[in-house]
Amino acid sequence: MKIKFVYGIFPALVLNIPWLKEWGFSLAFIVLMPTKLSEKEYDRLLKHELTHVKQFYRTFGLSEILYLVSRNYRWHAEIEAYATGVSVLDENIMLAQIKHKTKTITEHYRTNKTLSQTRAALLQEVIRTNNFKIQGAKYI
Ligand SMILES: [Zn+2]
Repeated sequence: MKIKFVYGIFPALVLNIPWLKEWGFSLAFIVLMPTKLSEKEYDRLLKHELTHVKQFYRTFGLSEILYLVSRNYRWHAEIEAYATGVSVLDENIMLAQIKHKTKTITEHYRTNKTLSQTRAALLQEVIRTNNFKIQGAKYI
């Protein structure tokens, strides 16, 4: 078990779970992480899950309920988490991951958003969170 801090002071307990395949989970300030990932992919996923812990703290715990009951909240929460996660990747890998994660969000999170709505929101969030300009953005 590791303790990480979000916003510099709020703890997150990170547990490595060998039987998890590729998905991480967070519940409140507890994060479950798979162990069979490359170092970069582990870093990306941990950043993603720690973003959900931040959402938990900044909503005073309401994020867990909002995530379950509101498709729109869940969509925004995942856009933020995926955008933060991909920021650890090299730029060329990041671009491919944005495309891949757009599909993941659209297909797995029951958000009622289209692929193009999700792609635009994710790209905008990546640019916002990374203060980063993607030249040409041809992959769109
Ligand atoms: Zn997530």
